[in-house]
Amino acid sequence: MTATNAKATQILWLRNDLRLHDHEGFKLAVENGAPLAVIYILPEHWLTTDADGMSRLGSAKARFLRAALIDLHRQLEDQTINFHMYRGDPVDIITRLRDEIVGDIRLLTSSPQAPEEQRWLHALEDYDLDLVTYESQTLFTQDQMSELLANFPGSFSKFRRTVEKNNGAFTVAESEPSVPLRIHEQPLRTNASISWPSSDYQVNMLFHGGERPGLKWLDRYLWEEKAISHYKDTRNALTGEFGSSHFSPWLAWGCLSPRKIWHEILKYEASYGETEQTYWLRFELLWREYFHWSMRAHSERLFIRSGIQRKPQKDSIKASTREQHWQAWCQASTGVPMVDAGLRELRHTGFVSNRLRQNMASYFIHQLKLDWRLGARWFEMYLCDFDVASNYGNWAYLAGVGHDPRPVREFNLNKQLHQYDPDLAHIRQWCPEIAEANLQDILNHQSGRALLPSFPPPVVNTAAYDVR
Ligand SMILES: Cc1cc2nc3c(=O)[nH]c(=O)nc-3n(C[C@H](O)[C@H](O)[C@H](O)COP(=O)(O)OP(=O)(O)OC[C@H]3O[C@@H](n4cnc5c(N)ncnc54)[C@H](O)[C@@H]3O)c2cc1C
Repeated sequence: MTATNAKATQILWLRNDLRLHDHEGFKLAVENGAPLAVIYILPEHWLTTDADGMSRLGSAKARFLRAALIDLHRQLEDQTINFHMYRGDPVDIITRLRDEIVGDIRLLTSSPQAPEEQRWLHALEDYDLDLVTYESQTLFTQDQMSELLANFPGSFSKFRRTVEKNNGAFTVAESEPSVPLRIHEQPLRTNASISWPSSDYQVNMLFHGGERPGLKWLDRYLWEEKAISHYKDTRNALTGEFGSSHFSPWLAWGCLSPRKIWHEILKYEASYGETEQTYWLRFELLWREYFHWSMRAHSERLFIRSGIQRKPQKDSIKASTREQHWQAWCQASTGVPMVDAGLRELRHTGFVSNRLRQNMASYFIHQLKLDWRLGARWFEMYLCDFDVASNYGNWAYLAGVGHDPRPVREFNLNKQLHQYDPDLAHIRQWCPEIAEANLQDILNHQSGRALLPSFPPPVVNTAAYDVR
């Protein structure tokens, strides 16, 4: 036996790190040199529908993920490495693979973020595997964050000030280029296949999943269009390709490394100068970072209704009213055009702008008076940029049980529409039945002052939106 043969067989289990660049897992595998099997497991329970009629994989989200997997599969194939994709329970599949392979196994995988991932890795510790984890989703490392994690900042501002003031300790490491995979493949016998759910409605994808489309978009957004030069001014737009960066779907599945984006922004600033506009994109990436480490600090607490603030929450409406409100939301017929347009857009494209997400969540929590976690699960099903930390973190924030120092963050949707979509570009695109209405007609309908005949009336009293 050669020294290499004596080493444990390596399995690289990819989850939200579907790329080759800036990938510690591939780097560790190549440095080790033992034969490698690269796998992805689509958790079976993501596809089952729960009692509230939701699964974890809406059609646009599934389509983005599938494209990301195909892109990686092709890239690996070019380097004569197979990419094995399974559907099932991750712990079952990995233990089956372990039983199939003769000798020791070294399992490489990204550090767990969500409690669900922690449970998988915890369960795998009971099996005879050498488990090696690496970071793939954040700007900073566990070591850089260890002190902050011990006493996690209660507000984003505090977090941001700490990392910006101590930029020696909080330097974002350079993103590393892809390593050539000069390594033997470990063949696997266990049957790999994923059958994808079919869609019963039309999906219009705005983005193509995958590392290569992600890198292309990064290049286009920053260098070709130089759209970062107006980022702060346009990021709140409800429509438009270049208003905000749209990096989120690629970040969510790990097709783009956040460190890669960060350093591209720094390069851009070195070429064209740092402005408030360019800084603001880094500022928003720090929000993402904050929510990611917050989830590690608070874990299960983030998913409890009283949130990390442990603020008791009570139902303030009857069960039958709750059901009526929930059905109106699910059918995008709340009677508030701004919300219904967002719900339609979300279902068909898997994306909604940040400003609209805030308004939709505020309406869900404060007007429909539904449990914020139900709304978070709805977003989880449909968003193709679903990111557990950012999604639950933002919902909890708007529900007043998360990291927001303000007790209530309730939006007036008429004021918001007036400010962010006065030309009604978004509503006209998603609610063509009221395309002829003008801004005042829509504002009147949203507050119940005068109703449009071709749109459902508001399901709850929204007279408070009427601010003349
Ligand atoms: C209720 C609600 C749910 C959300 N759910 C998600 C989610 O599941 N996944 C997700 O990536 N973002 C989520 N966000 C945050 C934000 O809406 C999206 O990141 C943003 O709209 C993505 O578009 P973009 O890439 O063009 O953002 P840009 O404005 O271009 O921002 C650049 C990047 O910064 C990060 N970022 C920006 N705003 C936020 C924020 N408020 N919180 C965390 N990160 C942010 C994202 O990674 C984003 O890609 C949610 C926000 C709300 C209000």
